[in-house]
Amino acid sequence: MQKIDLILLKYGEIALKGLNKPLFEGKLLNNIKSRLEKIGRFSVRKAQSTVYVEPLEEGLDMEAAVESLTQVFGIVNICPVRKCEKNMESIAKTAIECINYMRTTEKTFKVEAKREDKKFPLNSPQICMELGGMILEGIEDISVDVHRPDITVNVEVRQEAFVYTRKIKGAGGMPVGTNGKSTILLSGGIDSPVAGFMIAKRGVELEAVHFHSHPYTSDRAKEKVIDLAKQMSKYCGKIRLHIVPFTKIQLDIIEKCPENYLTVIMRRLMMRIAEKISVREGSAALITGESIGQVASQTMESLVCTDNAVSQPVFRPCIGMDKEEIVLISKKIGTYETSILPYEDCCTIFVPKHPKTKPQLAEIIEAEKVLGDIEAALDEAIAEEEVLVIR
Ligand code: ATP
Ligand code: MG
Repeated sequence: MQKIDLILLKYGEIALKGLNKPLFEGKLLNNIKSRLEKIGRFSVRKAQSTVYVEPLEEGLDMEAAVESLTQVFGIVNICPVRKCEKNMESIAKTAIECINYMRTTEKTFKVEAKREDKKFPLNSPQICMELGGMILEGIEDISVDVHRPDITVNVEVRQEAFVYTRKIKGAGGMPVGTNGKSTILLSGGIDSPVAGFMIAKRGVELEAVHFHSHPYTSDRAKEKVIDLAKQMSKYCGKIRLHIVPFTKIQLDIIEKCPENYLTVIMRRLMMRIAEKISVREGSAALITGESIGQVASQTMESLVCTDNAVSQPVFRPCIGMDKEEIVLISKKIGTYETSILPYEDCCTIFVPKHPKTKPQLAEIIEAEKVLGDIEAALDEAIAEEEVLVIR
């Protein structure tokens, strides 16, 4: 393993936040700290729009730290760096070590330098020139290519001097907790974990609601959703998962409502329960994994009917995506393998043979009337919710 003395983190959009910047930076630092807790003791501080992550104990797994930082929203680049003395000899010695370590077939390099400490005798272009020459002298069989180098050697002269040859792409987005809270309707499928991920990426904290239809859906289906929430929480931070029994309401709908309206009515009632929980938990909006036309309950007409059941805004980040595109993200965030496990969901049992693909809102509202005092039934389901805190 190549030695890593500390990790420098670069953030993008936050740097533009003007007066709110300290707020964003504070959240980011906290999220980083709680993410690293499991790995060991680190000092996490910021200076000049860069976060410094330094180990406070010997022998910490720095590669594991780098890996887990790729899952923190708000970070654009992760640079595992070597620290050295603030003179060109020491910088060159470290740079040569770094290149030799990572070099296999690579034949070209370039130097990028940043001088934050204006007292350092060389400016950035001079550092590049000087260090480039020293590397050419120190390593055989290597040449400079400023356009398409195999290796980019980065030097940053700050309070101390840092050298690095790896710049790892971070998760981007904004620190979770800087943009309020939303409630994701989390099924066991592929789409909803991706939808939650995409909203959390913009700094939004997640509350999650899952409906289960025991005994028609099994405990393993419930476990599956808990596993999905665990995987999501690596990126999204703490998630409170509300598991709500839906069987009674579902059976009532099946018994009383026209068969071809079942799914849309069921989805409307899911939304209403989720909204009640959302309001109670101080969350401002709902999120679903719906995508236009994916199934009968996601045609434009069906979406209009579902939307109309609630007054909170409904965010559907997958709305214009093809399944393939959603799958790609779910593989990237590690939810795919769990999502494709074959346990039934309460939406997939009792599927009508001929669902109405163009339901009209007035007809649906009329059809729902037979359910009587539905508010009481919704509250009853909520009263039986099970709440898990997923970290
Ligand atoms: P997939 O389409 O991959 O099966 P999905 O999560 O999109 O997964 P759908 O049946 O298409 O599942 O449901 C559409 C949306 O409704 C979901 O994205 C989710 O937000 C919500 N939803 C469906 N079933 C449930 C459930 N049991 N609990 C909570 N939300 C659900
Ligand atoms: Mg879907």
